[in-house]
Amino acid sequence: TRRHILVTGGAGYIGSHMTLALLGAGERPLVIDNLSTGSRAIVPTDVPFFEGNVGDADFVGRIMDEHPIEAIIHFAASIVVPESVTQPLAYYGNNTANARTLLECAVNHGVPHVVFSSTAAVYGEPDRTPVEEDDPTRPINPYGRSKLMVEWMLADIAQAYPFSYAALRYFNVAGADPQGRAGQSTPNATHLIKIAVQAALGKRSGLDVYGTDYSTPDGSCIRDYVHVSDLAQAHLDALDYLRAGKPSITCNIGYANGYSVLDVINVVKRVSGVDFEVRIKGRRAGDPAALIAANQRARTALSWTPRYDDLEQIVRDALAWERRLG
Ligand code: UDP
Repeated sequence: TRRHILVTGGAGYIGSHMTLALLGAGERPLVIDNLSTGSRAIVPTDVPFFEGNVGDADFVGRIMDEHPIEAIIHFAASIVVPESVTQPLAYYGNNTANARTLLECAVNHGVPHVVFSSTAAVYGEPDRTPVEEDDPTRPINPYGRSKLMVEWMLADIAQAYPFSYAALRYFNVAGADPQGRAGQSTPNATHLIKIAVQAALGKRSGLDVYGTDYSTPDGSCIRDYVHVSDLAQAHLDALDYLRAGKPSITCNIGYANGYSVLDVINVVKRVSGVDFEVRIKGRRAGDPAALIAANQRARTALSWTPRYDDLEQIVRDALAWERRLG
């Protein structure tokens, strides 16, 4: 029988796009999610779904006993940088300790491959942009540290067991399925493009800019915004790469293009045709000034070919989804 691809966090924003991408590629996804931020309704009804925690070894072990798993794509985690500063133990628990349990289950059940959701936050304030994968990792917030420790575990496990992994360091994921089948549904989302399209649609009153005194051309922070569907494709490419027996790999996933917070706001205003209120505030804890991905490794080693490298398209798709949410 063909084996399953276990998607942890498959009821969440990125995980739901991944499940659609796997189905589209003829794979057999199986979803675990604790529904802390995800939604059961977004998981297609024909995909096996298990509600629970990846840090619960009995729960995960039972699923693996009953369903042969070829690879795990591990999304389930907490992702809000300022929250990680005020609740570090929650981040080390959800992101680091739970991943350790999941990996132990994987090793005990002979699961050969893991694709891990890592983050640009492992770099902290890079010495150069675009930042390359072999540049120093010096995270400046608990979120980045909680993810970097998992990268270290993966590297050690791959030395000790017949196991290979791809750690994908996501830059700023945004947008929604261009066909309108999925999007960012988290009610209390904090990420910039989501907030800005909500402001454009009158779902919140304007938007706060957290700092215009950074050493960037307009003073606001620069990020590399990547379309969620291109990100899902990178995971399919990583799966093919690992299945081909190639060595474990760490890749940035971004477009090598940076936009400032003020740039993003201007694009959202232009695409939506709405001039919402923008308030300049002080800096937010844990924010590096600029993060831009060098992406040659993903393009070359994984054969990743982005299709939606266009901030306007990202914003259009995010807006369309936000309208659909009502
Ligand atoms: N940001 C902002 N206002 C908001 C949300 C975010 O100015 O309402 C800024 C934030 O300070 C950072 C950038 O937008 O400089 C991207 O933040 P986000 O939370 O989207 O992603 P992060 O880079 O923290 O993962």
